[in-house]
Amino acid sequence: MMSKWAHAISFSFRSGSQADSLPIVSRIRAIDPHNSLKNIGGKRSMSVQTHRKCNVVIIGGGAIGSSTAYWLKKRASKDLSVIVLERDPTYKEASTVLSCGGVRQQFSLPENIQLSLFGGEFIQNAKKYLGDVDLCFQPNGYLVLASEKSAEVLQQNYKLQKELGACNELLTADKLKQKFPWLNVEDIALGCHGLDKEGWFDPWALLGGFRNRAKEYGADFLQGEVLDFHIPDGSKKINSVRVRAKTKEICTVDFDICVLTAGAHSGEIARKANIGNGPGALSTALPIEPRKRYVYVFTTQGENAPGPNTPQTHDLDGTYFRRDGKGSNYIAGRGPDEEAEPPVNNLDVDHEFFDTNVWPTLAKRCTAFESIKVCGSWAGFYEYNTFDANGIVGPHTYYNNLYIGTGFSGHGIQQSPAVGRVLSELILDGGYKTLDISRLGFDRIAANRPMFESNIY
Ligand SMILES: Cc1cc2nc3c(=O)[nH]c(=O)nc-3n(C[C@H](O)[C@H](O)[C@H](O)COP(=O)(O)OP(=O)(O)OC[C@H]3O[C@@H](n4cnc5c(N)ncnc54)[C@H](O)[C@@H]3O)c2cc1C
Repeated sequence: MMSKWAHAISFSFRSGSQADSLPIVSRIRAIDPHNSLKNIGGKRSMSVQTHRKCNVVIIGGGAIGSSTAYWLKKRASKDLSVIVLERDPTYKEASTVLSCGGVRQQFSLPENIQLSLFGGEFIQNAKKYLGDVDLCFQPNGYLVLASEKSAEVLQQNYKLQKELGACNELLTADKLKQKFPWLNVEDIALGCHGLDKEGWFDPWALLGGFRNRAKEYGADFLQGEVLDFHIPDGSKKINSVRVRAKTKEICTVDFDICVLTAGAHSGEIARKANIGNGPGALSTALPIEPRKRYVYVFTTQGENAPGPNTPQTHDLDGTYFRRDGKGSNYIAGRGPDEEAEPPVNNLDVDHEFFDTNVWPTLAKRCTAFESIKVCGSWAGFYEYNTFDANGIVGPHTYYNNLYIGTGFSGHGIQQSPAVGRVLSELILDGGYKTLDISRLGFDRIAANRPMFESNIY
């Protein structure tokens, strides 16, 4: 049967003599003495012949992909070969390193609460799992505020969070004022404060921990950009992936199983495997796109400013702030309205957005924030799930050797420990063992079963 590349090939193969200095090639050779790099006519052939084989290939080495590699190799060790393909080992645009590193159990869906309960446990006890790392975990909790109108939903969420093992407390306006004297409670009826496994941490350190341990257990992290897939005609299996190394050299990686964890680019990569472009089950796209979010750093000289124990505070309109670092800096942000999503062709920061959308809420909530100085900012991409703004985790419905882990839309870093673990269970055990999150599967999209989460910021 004829084979075809699923995606149109828009570049030409390069030949022979530029070969020798290519990092991905030398790395492949160093790692795998049996690799199938061929010598043709006494010269090393550099293109299609340069290829690797593995049991599991993971596309995207951010927190989700690196966690998956960590769990797979920790559990299966030598019995399973794992390659992580990451196009940018500096991670300069990866969501993981541009995130705020918040972890909370204050969600409305049981799956999110449970994923983040394990995330919180893992982050709080990172040394137990990752060895000598310091995630700089700040256990200040989240403080989610509610008005008279939204108080009932907050109470329902609190009840569910409690039932599932979260340790939170509900506080009336009076109690909030006692505990947080800086808080203006004039329009607040209730607040929920997380007392355990909630706060924030250093996302870089978590990523480094996953990567280092996964490598120690034998996972290979290769620098390369995934270009397209090889899918035999009519097959429900993807056989291999083509990768462009930093030097533009083309390599192929053959695999038994593929895990797609490419963050904001997952939708685009899925299309290269005809997902969303084909007939029947292939007509459903992976609904992930980048959406830009700003984070602003500020200081205040105001009196009664929120102190070092201040929780990450979430206001009625979605504005949040928290302390940052050991000095007196704060960070703050807020998602834009759906119709005002900024362009995603750059990571520029819109400072006017702070003035018009973030600062007024900060100033209203805390008098010390009436006068502040913005001293820094950054932007990053959410891997946004346009279907229901929630993670998509599990097997693909058409390809029987493809697994997906993406779409967390703002809460993926905290869920990365649990998501990597459940993906390892699907692959090694054939089903969920620790946590059944099948309702977050890809099949919900074609079936039009959205999983809306009310606590998304
Ligand atoms: C401003 C901001 C604040 C956030 N705050 C929080 C928070 O407080 N708490 C929380 O839990 N989450 C937060 N998030 C969300 C969180 O960062 C993400 O959900 C999480 O990091 C997703 O991890 P990932 O591994 O899927 O994606 P990424 O970290 O983006 O990793 C995907 C990787 O895939 C690689 N890749 C892409 N295309 C290719 C290709 N073709 N070939 C090879 N590699 C490729 C990329 O280079 C990248 O390194 C925030 C995000 C942002 C932007």
